[in-house]
Amino acid sequence: MQVYISVDLEGVAGIATFDQILRGGSGYPRAQSLMTAEANAAIRGAFAGGATEVVVSDSHGTMDNLLVAELDPRARIVTGGPRPACMAQGLSRDAAVAIFLGYHAAAGAPGVLSHTFSANFTQLRINGKPMSEAEVNALYAADRAVPVGVLTGDDQICAVAREAFPGVRTVETKTAIGWSATDSLQPATACAAIEDVVAEATAAASHLSAPPVPEVLDLEVGFASALGADLAAVTPGTQRLDALTLGYRTSDVDELLRAIMAWYYLAALAAQQTAALAARR
Ligand SMILES: [Zn+2]
Repeated sequence: MQVYISVDLEGVAGIATFDQILRGGSGYPRAQSLMTAEANAAIRGAFAGGATEVVVSDSHGTMDNLLVAELDPRARIVTGGPRPACMAQGLSRDAAVAIFLGYHAAAGAPGVLSHTFSANFTQLRINGKPMSEAEVNALYAADRAVPVGVLTGDDQICAVAREAFPGVRTVETKTAIGWSATDSLQPATACAAIEDVVAEATAAASHLSAPPVPEVLDLEVGFASALGADLAAVTPGTQRLDALTLGYRTSDVDELLRAIMAWYYLAALAAQQTAALAARR
């Protein structure tokens, strides 16, 4: 039985500030250790629950944050990017259950370091509903008949998960105080809870089933800048809904993620150009 684990960073216990989640920040090396410890706790839990194979996806930012040499040697690691399925890369029909570790709330929603894929997106909606990264990645999993068994992160994203994913187990690693302030479990306490809950969910994986994927997926993304929307609007199939909003209709989840990724990189390019011009002033 294969278990797939996607590991983000914002929802890891002890993480609260932007300085911790950005490569080059003074807190980033500490954050890498905390993320790696939670990944190892989940890997141990998966094997204890009956997994014979564990695939871990490094799913934050540049996608190469985990201290791979310190990871449990039984796991396989999906690392680095760009990659077409982003945080869900490596998730296949071979997995019995998906685990989303260290996840965070959606752009515009309350929660520690909340955003949806990019700081350059103000909101991401599918079929009119604002979506978190967890819900988008769960669509990709559901398309492969893989249910989400565990989500860990702050109280805000855990509440979203319990609503969105039937039967999911959650570990609230922390309570959000503000965007970069939290009341957190001590990391070792969080790791112990993650190991237990992942073991339970792995053992019970056959009791979960993935929900059906909607036949039509209407993606809408709000952009933080009109220049970002201008650049992203060149992507084939994209509709310009207004100055700051783009739309994309598909029935294919893989294509949906590719559209999000294309817009992500183009919006980042716009932000870089704007920052470079501002720095010259
Ligand atoms: Zn992240």
